[in-house]
Amino acid sequence: MQQAKFGTVFNCMDGRTQLQVNEFLREKYGLDYVDTITEPGIDGILSANSGELIEYLKQKAGISINKHGSGIIAIVGHHDCAGNPVDKTTHIEQVKSSIDVVSSWGFPAEVIGIWVNENWEVEVIE
Ligand SMILES: [Zn+2]
Repeated sequence: MQQAKFGTVFNCMDGRTQLQVNEFLREKYGLDYVDTITEPGIDGILSANSGELIEYLKQKAGISINKHGSGIIAIVGHHDCAGNPVDKTTHIEQVKSSIDVVSSWGFPAEVIGIWVNENWEVEVIE
């Protein structure tokens, strides 16, 4: 039996950002399932890199990576974020900082950033 292929995403809780991000990741990385960890304005939380919540988020990612064998972690920032109401430039900077934070955890996974724009489309943050 072939093992299902998993990825991991840190996404906002916002319902407008779920389906297209899931679909994008499954298509781009040939995944069967995307384990989804959500908080309101998660790019702001990860980039701040402080408090107990960070440890909890790291634990959740660990389950996805160690138990499901995920090799890709995506971090999402998006337009019109109620949980983290900053401008686009700040979101992009926060996603980039979040990539550094999550990479520092040392999981054997690629870490990427995604911006969901004003048309609710996925853009990869370079
Ligand atoms: Zn949001």
